[in-house]
Amino acid sequence: MLGYGYSRVLVTGGAGFVGSHLCEQLLGQGHEVLCVDNFHTGTKSNVAHLLTNPRFELVHHDITQPLYAQVGQIYNLACPASPVHYQSDPVHTMKTSVIGAINMLGLAKRQKARILQASTSEVYGDPKVHPQAETYWGHVNPIGRRSCYDEGKRAAEALYFDYWRQHKVQIKIARIFNTYGPRMHPQDGRVISNFVVQALKGDPITIYGDGRQTRSFCYVDDLVDGLIRLMNSPEEVTGPINLGNPGEFTIAELANMVVVLTGSNSEVVHRPQPPDDPYQRRPDITLAEEKLQWRPTVPLREGLIRTLDYFQTLLGTGPRSGYPKVIQFEAAVQASQRAEIA
Ligand code: NAD
Ligand code: UDP
Ligand code: UDP
Repeated sequence: MLGYGYSRVLVTGGAGFVGSHLCEQLLGQGHEVLCVDNFHTGTKSNVAHLLTNPRFELVHHDITQPLYAQVGQIYNLACPASPVHYQSDPVHTMKTSVIGAINMLGLAKRQKARILQASTSEVYGDPKVHPQAETYWGHVNPIGRRSCYDEGKRAAEALYFDYWRQHKVQIKIARIFNTYGPRMHPQDGRVISNFVVQALKGDPITIYGDGRQTRSFCYVDDLVDGLIRLMNSPEEVTGPINLGNPGEFTIAELANMVVVLTGSNSEVVHRPQPPDDPYQRRPDITLAEEKLQWRPTVPLREGLIRTLDYFQTLLGTGPRSGYPKVIQFEAAVQASQRAEIA
């Protein structure tokens, strides 16, 4: 169900980790895809395999600047997602979320296009309600080091709803929880890519703090399926809708899984926990199940194996020795005593 006039789909941040998978999926569905990226954290190599497709177009552009294009749908993913990267130029991160949102909403308004915002579980901050449902307003530090991202995304959500109320723009807001998979940048800084790269290289695995903080990890293919379902849902479904895997793991459990699965000799070391690091995070996905008939299908073990294979090839680290240890891995998962959904 494309917007009026044009069957072209714009993906901002399309050369990033999630965006590149989304572009691939949309092309596979027969769409024309305009991928716009400033290559801050994304790379041309992420979409190099798409460049020969005549329905794919790649444009170097920063969404803090106006963009004029003919499109029927807009997926607004442009924004660095790793704390290391969004904190490296916090002012630009905020500009990307706020000015970028205004520009993309202005484009959607002019084109009568449908627009989807990649929002985040970070709008819940360090949540005091667990698991997090969309009705929870969050617990965010407005002046901390994570604020450029958290508050930027919250401001973007507010702008989307104002354009919806004031200008009748068709909006969709996805609150994305921690997502992982192939094409994460090896120096991305997020926990799964860090642990996998460290384990494959035999470097120390860096747990920040005591490792008791939790996250819920969603495999990228599941997320992309959820984003496309949300975009094509009935007009009255605006969101915000949580998209994430409710399987919840401590960071120490994750480190253990990666070590066992890779058969790595890496030692686990502890480093200081960053300020305002959320203590717990787990999505309530009832709304996505009801409105989108969506739930994740890839369990963490399976997704980790696919991610390990990707990084092993990328880093040229040789055959992984961990396959025989999958049984130990199962034990590690059970030890977590937490039910994963898929
Ligand atoms: P990523 O850093 O790999 O991709 C972001 C992309 O946006 C990169 O290609 C980057 O170069 C581009 N970009 C950044 N600022 C830009 C700007 N001003 N103009 C144009 N392009 C710009 O991150 P990702 O994991 O693929 O995340 C994609 C989106 O999903 C982000 O908006 C992020 O906030 C959101 N999200 C991701 C996760 C996750 O766990 N992956 C969780 C919550 C939300
Ligand atoms: N904009 C854009 N592409 C368009 C239309 C608008 O980038 O096709 C930008 C433009 O920079 C503008 C912003 O979106 O400032 C908001 O547009 P809107 O029409 O809502 O507001 P106005 O132009 O009245 O400020
Ligand atoms: N983390 C860690 N070691 C690392 C990278 C991250 O222990 O090398 C922790 C981090 O402190 C946080 C969790 O893993 O508690 C998830 O961090 P990430 O940056 O992946 O995502 P976010 O904090 O944005 O959820």
